[in-house]
Amino acid sequence: MNIIPYTAEHNIFRESLRKFLDKEIVSHVEEWEEAGIVPRSIWKKMGEQGFLGTAVPEEYGGAGCDFLYSVIVGEEMVRANFSGLTASLHSDIIVPYITTFGSEAQKQKYLPGCVTGDIITAVAMTEPNTGSDLAAMKTTAVEDGDDIILNGQKTFISNGINCDLCVVAAKDPACSDPHKAVDLYLVEAGTPGFEKGRQIKKIGWHSQDTSELYFTDCRIPRSNRLGEKGTGFLNLMLKLQQERLVCAIGAMAAAEFMLEITVKYCKERTVFGKPISKFQVNQFAIVEMATEIKLGRTFVDKLIMDHMEGLNVVIETSMAKYWITDMANKVADRCLQLHGGYGYCDEYGISRAWRDIRVTRIFAGTNEIMKVIIARFMGL
Ligand SMILES: Cc1cc2nc3c(=O)[nH]c(=O)nc-3n(C[C@H](O)[C@H](O)[C@H](O)COP(=O)(O)OP(=O)(O)OC[C@H]3O[C@@H](n4cnc5c(N)ncnc54)[C@H](O)[C@@H]3O)c2cc1C
Repeated sequence: MNIIPYTAEHNIFRESLRKFLDKEIVSHVEEWEEAGIVPRSIWKKMGEQGFLGTAVPEEYGGAGCDFLYSVIVGEEMVRANFSGLTASLHSDIIVPYITTFGSEAQKQKYLPGCVTGDIITAVAMTEPNTGSDLAAMKTTAVEDGDDIILNGQKTFISNGINCDLCVVAAKDPACSDPHKAVDLYLVEAGTPGFEKGRQIKKIGWHSQDTSELYFTDCRIPRSNRLGEKGTGFLNLMLKLQQERLVCAIGAMAAAEFMLEITVKYCKERTVFGKPISKFQVNQFAIVEMATEIKLGRTFVDKLIMDHMEGLNVVIETSMAKYWITDMANKVADRCLQLHGGYGYCDEYGISRAWRDIRVTRIFAGTNEIMKVIIARFMGL
């Protein structure tokens, strides 16, 4: 039931990424989880090997690859049981804002560095009082001659500490339309008035630097606005399909990974004189998970193909985002249970996978918001 026609080139790319992750990442994950951040050097190494910004057009330093290369990177990072280096967020969610809406000058200035790993990106939408209800954001962008002055606070920003370039959503307070008031701005780290705040301690994603960001009279050139004035909210919406799909792909790969390590464990661990996998109750649990995983895989692979064909599947990707992340969370819990006490211990991969999957139901639009969108579409 292969829906995606991966070519030999895709498979070679996957194989080389897998080897890279084994060599350069897997043995360091514990150390980085402890540190709460990954070193910038690993971003550079990823870039040098061609694993960042694969879709960026060749004239800006990328390889102009199809979306399947992004899928492969997303899946393999998850398979390495590692959430610290958010390659998919950088390459497939943030960089596309620049590729699609950026001016020629912005593309030339920033895209090559995004591909080499010299520029780590972040996107700052969420604020302490504004998560799901994005249009209610308070951060302001006020024009002053050829400049824009930003004021406000963002929170929960992935790559918040490591980022060199941040796509910031802010509102023109003079505009009364809450959607048209929003624009996206490129803000470089080190710009006076842009301060990286507290790193947030989290249940999972321990090596992922998530932080607060502050903008205090932060002056940037007006040319740092992404796209025409008043299009920021619309541009965010236009990219939601890929954002939700990327999230669903990650959760899908996580569910598959968790089941794979659990089946192996159940065949090896013996209780009452036989492997755990020989008890029918556990077989049923594994079979149920395998079935749901197959259903999810079939759905998400179909959506990947539709997305690549340029079809509008924003509702279906919203369905996939909520259903697959919910499913993966259930799989995580059942798999941990099948590991018994060892599942609760850090040295077993399932424990990190279990705590890291939880957030997928929250970010990229909460699963409740996905249902709100689907219900609205259904005319309910
Ligand atoms: C680890 C992590 C990384 C993140 N990375 C980023 C990032 O890089 N950039 C960024 O901008 N943001 C990021 N976020 C923020 C994330 O997108 C928000 O947390 C998310 O959008 C939810 O917003 P909130 O936390 O304010 O929750 P709220 O909006 O306050 O929601 C609280 C609860 O109410 C529910 N709810 C809200 N509205 C409705 C409704 N209409 N109907 C029914 N239920 C509703 C929600 O589903 C949720 O259960 C990150 C968050 C985390 C935890």
